[in-house]
Amino acid sequence: MNHEPSYTQVARDLWRAQREGPAGIARRRDRRLASLVAYARCHSALYRRLYADVPTHGWSLSDLPPATKPELMAAFDNWVTDPDITRAGLETFIADPARVGVPYRDGLFVCTTSGTTGHPGLFVHDRRLIAVYRAMTIVRLDLAWLSPLDWVALVRRGLRWAAIVGTGAHFAGTGWVEFERHRNPVYRRAFRTFSVQQPLAELVAELNAFDPAIMSSYPSALELLAEEQVAGRLRVRPAVLESAGESTAAASRARVAAAFNRPVHDVYAATEFEMMALDCPVGWLHVNSDWVVLEPVDAAFRPTPAGQPSETVLLTNLADRIQPIIRYDLGDSVVARPDPCPCGSPFPAIRVEGRRDDVLRLTARDGHAIAVLPLAIGAVLESAPGVRRGQIVQTGPSTIRLRLKPEPGTGTGTEEVWAAVLSNLRAYLEGQGLANVELVRAAEPPVQSPTSGKFRQVIAAPTGTAV
Ligand SMILES: [Zn+2]
Repeated sequence: MNHEPSYTQVARDLWRAQREGPAGIARRRDRRLASLVAYARCHSALYRRLYADVPTHGWSLSDLPPATKPELMAAFDNWVTDPDITRAGLETFIADPARVGVPYRDGLFVCTTSGTTGHPGLFVHDRRLIAVYRAMTIVRLDLAWLSPLDWVALVRRGLRWAAIVGTGAHFAGTGWVEFERHRNPVYRRAFRTFSVQQPLAELVAELNAFDPAIMSSYPSALELLAEEQVAGRLRVRPAVLESAGESTAAASRARVAAAFNRPVHDVYAATEFEMMALDCPVGWLHVNSDWVVLEPVDAAFRPTPAGQPSETVLLTNLADRIQPIIRYDLGDSVVARPDPCPCGSPFPAIRVEGRRDDVLRLTARDGHAIAVLPLAIGAVLESAPGVRRGQIVQTGPSTIRLRLKPEPGTGTGTEEVWAAVLSNLRAYLEGQGLANVELVRAAEPPVQSPTSGKFRQVIAAPTGTAV
């Protein structure tokens, strides 16, 4: 029933799918979807209940009720299809940060989200999904992005890959690098994670010493590093630059590409599926639709027409059987391209609108501007228990306004949540050389953008800031 293809079988199939074009891709997607849904109904109590009114045969994807992270997480042990995998067992495992990327049980990958929507997620990727990630990295990423000269440059530099990511917990980015390092001694030497939470000067010094051949990070971090490279403090010569985790503005991407004299490649990634879509030469993201389904929808989960930004997007991960993710509300706003992409890719093209936070540029006591990455300061905000949603707004050169909405019913009092968040933020800012920054406790709760309606966690002041 749960046949697991090998990595090489998956790689061959990925290659064949793109050669066969849209019909071959659709055939694989439909077959995998039917098999996944049948498996979930049989082995997951949660999906059995959720799909109770859906006929066993003759259904289409839109007949399946969507699922949200809070409802799935609340019924975790009924969601997963393997009775030996439990929320309690996984929480014990991830309680130790030293286990980041350590294979769980017989080779499973465990990761968490930091909970930007206020609901941290806990994910177990099975061996089939891991095989898909590995094969996709080679077939759709390396073979598509790298020229023969790039390969020579990579091999000469020992395949050194610097992943500049959020560290300190079982996040998908840092976890995956560590997972691969556990598997293979070559990767153990070549791959390294660098913390975006550390002060920029330290990060620059570490990268100079490492001399990476591949550099991956969030667009906001790459942009800061590009400024360091232009200023001459960072001196690296990556053959490949990869950005993931936030949406990229074209101008920002161009600045990074110019600074390093290399093109920047985008990956549309989520903890729930790490390579949902990959960029093309004309600036669209192509969905790996033989293994993942993305449906742009409105707030009532009705389809959004192509060409228009969606309210959210429903993700179906066609690979993972242990924790089936079917029509899962991902929260991003995407636009589907209505016509075929001129690049000639047989995969559907999208653009991602959401996930854009600002880099803060705060003035230190000595008058220097210090850049603070949104992901790093956002993670601090979420590190205190009992935070449902938080928002950081820079209102002056050295002033931050903090808006918080505590999680109701967690047993943690509102005052305790505020005290913990303020104390964590103060410690973080001190570590960045910004002990002088004033933290103002806002009376109002976090608010959505009045123009786009989107929620942003970290917002730079529109005026009056030193740059
Ligand atoms: Zn394209």
